[in-house]
Amino acid sequence: MDGGQSLRARRVLVTTGLRDKFPDIPGTRERWGRDLLHCPYCHGHEVRDQPLGVLGGTPEAVTHAHLVRQWSEDVVFLANGTALTADQRARLDARGIGVIDNPVARLVVEDDRLTGVELESGRVVPLAAVFVRPRFVPNDTLLTALGCATQDNGWVIADVTGRTSVPGVWAAGNAVNPRAQVITAAGEGSAAAIAINNDLVEEDVLVAVTDGAQHLPV
Ligand SMILES: Cc1cc2nc3c(=O)[nH]c(=O)nc-3n(C[C@H](O)[C@H](O)[C@H](O)COP(=O)(O)OP(=O)(O)OC[C@H]3O[C@@H](n4cnc5c(N)ncnc54)[C@H](O)[C@@H]3O)c2cc1C
Repeated sequence: MDGGQSLRARRVLVTTGLRDKFPDIPGTRERWGRDLLHCPYCHGHEVRDQPLGVLGGTPEAVTHAHLVRQWSEDVVFLANGTALTADQRARLDARGIGVIDNPVARLVVEDDRLTGVELESGRVVPLAAVFVRPRFVPNDTLLTALGCATQDNGWVIADVTGRTSVPGVWAAGNAVNPRAQVITAAGEGSAAAIAINNDLVEEDVLVAVTDGAQHLPV
């Protein structure tokens, strides 16, 4: 713990979540979760039918633009250094998503509200919100320090109950599952709690049987 104290526990459930990494463009940190958005499923409805931008820079950004397009007919893809293939351009064009190749210099904010993005050329593109597909970085230092096995992509492996490769250590939510949302993370926590309780009961039974065997008449 922070204060240096040690806590003893028979089982551990780690639910430390993840960090969102996105291009470090002036204004992004201040607007994150307000009008710089990540999830179309969480926020798409709130900004529907308005001019929306999708910030490139990660491999999944183009797919993200197609998801955002479900919420507005006025969507631009801000490539921001992403090298688009001819096929990607054709697919964006087919759905009426404009592409702006000039890099984004900053988010434009007026009266505590995003009003657009300024490109390096100085041109301002008016927008009501910008979506970005962040890179998810799990907060899993504790799990990896304990020796939990990881997948090829570096994420800690947990089974459907959250059990890791280290006996007694469980994990749930975004710490091990980048796709988890609130309801999923809570569900995984519940599944892990049930599995942990079963594991504790199993251990208690084993101990009771062993103790009982010691007291049996020979
Ligand atoms: C801007 C934004 C909007 C979102 N909107 C929605 C939405 O509308 N609907 C939806 O379903 N999902 C939404 N999500 C996703 C949702 O927030 C996550 O999927 C969910 O919170 C994951 O839950 P979790 O318990 O795994 O992690 P978290 O909720 O991230 O909780 C992890 C906790 O662990 C703490 N922690 C980290 N490291 C340590 C440590 N070493 N020691 C102690 N504590 C630590 C963190 O401070 C945090 O409190 C949104 C996410 C973002 C960023």
